[in-house]
Amino acid sequence: MPRKKLIAANWKMYKTPEQTLAFFRDFLPLVSGHRRDEIVVCPPYTDLAAAVEAAKASNVAVGGQNVHWKDEGAFTGEISASMLLALNVTHVIVGHSERRQYFCETDDTVSLRLKAALEAGLTPICCVGEVLEEREAGLTDDVLRRQCVRAFHSVSAKKAAKLVVAYEPVWAIGTGKTATPELAAEAHAVIRREATEIFGEAFASSLRILYGGSVKPENASALMAEEEIDGALVGGASLDPKSFAGIVKY
Ligand code: PEP
Repeated sequence: MPRKKLIAANWKMYKTPEQTLAFFRDFLPLVSGHRRDEIVVCPPYTDLAAAVEAAKASNVAVGGQNVHWKDEGAFTGEISASMLLALNVTHVIVGHSERRQYFCETDDTVSLRLKAALEAGLTPICCVGEVLEEREAGLTDDVLRRQCVRAFHSVSAKKAAKLVVAYEPVWAIGTGKTATPELAAEAHAVIRREATEIFGEAFASSLRILYGGSVKPENASALMAEEEIDGALVGGASLDPKSFAGIVKY
């Protein structure tokens, strides 16, 4: 069965609730009736309620940008899967490179967050990807394999049913440098091979692997034409309704 592509917006630390409502007011008419791909918008936590309300009864789902592994507790600044579910949020990003780079996220905490999301029935978008020095040292495949092995540690194929992986080469995020479709497809193939080892062939062949890193309306169709690329995780270009709609409709 062909894999349905997923196009996800990662708004990072941008937009207020009012700006979120304005985005949806302009964006939804541009993608109404678009069923070919799954569309998800991941705003900051403070915008989730506004986003869910604005996207109600539309073809756009709403996701969080992170999730803690405990259900509640003394963890200042964190939010749990049940808090996301209570807002009717359905997706969540885990292991984004900015969390890894600036907030001490490790392969092990990514794994804990991933398991919590799966356990709660959320669809996790688990980010992996190499930094420039690792690519230049020829370590890309090793890094991707390590990140997958650690993130998926002790997760069964049954539990992982909703898992989505995003390959995001760190050197391409927010830099305007995009991986060529061929280079991205090679990395995706490494991830799919690792998923085959861990979860088995049937699971891996239906696993969606998104590409992220300076995706724009101008390069989206070449990237999406690669059989190995099952969608996109989009940062900067997802903040503008027209530009994100242009990517969705590649
Ligand atoms: C991201 O934040 O996941 C991302 C891919 O950002 P950008 O599209 O801006 O490179």
